[in-house]
Amino acid sequence: MVHCTYTVPDKAASGDDFYGASICDQVYVDYFWDTYGFAGNKEYWDDGFGWDDCCNTDQPLARTFNGCYALTYSAQDYLNDDYAGACLNWARRYVREHIGDLRSKCGDGDAIAASVGGGVVELYLGCFYTKNAPGRAETLLHESRHIGGKPHDAKFPKGSTFGEGKSGADSSWGYEGAWMYGALYLWWYYAQGARTTSAIRELARQRANVVIDGAFATHPGYSV
Ligand SMILES: [Zn+2]
Repeated sequence: MVHCTYTVPDKAASGDDFYGASICDQVYVDYFWDTYGFAGNKEYWDDGFGWDDCCNTDQPLARTFNGCYALTYSAQDYLNDDYAGACLNWARRYVREHIGDLRSKCGDGDAIAASVGGGVVELYLGCFYTKNAPGRAETLLHESRHIGGKPHDAKFPKGSTFGEGKSGADSSWGYEGAWMYGALYLWWYYAQGARTTSAIRELARQRANVVIDGAFATHPGYSV
């Protein structure tokens, strides 16, 4: 069932007030639009998704831009995106090099995102309204990793908040799949994130632990 109504949760708590104060600058809007697969996709981002109101953090487009800002600028030396460095540095590059086509859709109300082939990533209401700003950056990196050739290869473990026994987990941290990439990003964001706040970094820490505890068939043994 397509579900396309939503309520906007507390924007201070989600980091959307904080990032929303930065994204509304044409330089950023143009960079995100051209870099992360929005270009050519106006039809997926208009009609209430924010194309005509791209600074309005009640709407999906500005909320995605907030995630893009976190993805792009959270390393202190963000211009260095060499893969030899920290995930916080190269995550932006990995997303840039993998997502060619980023689309917004309603989804079923709970769905977050999907990589649907051909470099196309769909974001759904769950990404915009249940995930916080660094969590949306995590989603972009997660879906990019699928495009990079790592499908999920296991079922969620006992007690997982993602649904015990359902497929969609990764077998291990060492598989270096989408969940590992996302958790690694959040871990670095918590530890060294710049241009953010301690409260938003704490959101990243909590989410990293949810992923580590629930998304691997074999627990990685880490706690952030
Ligand atoms: Zn996935």
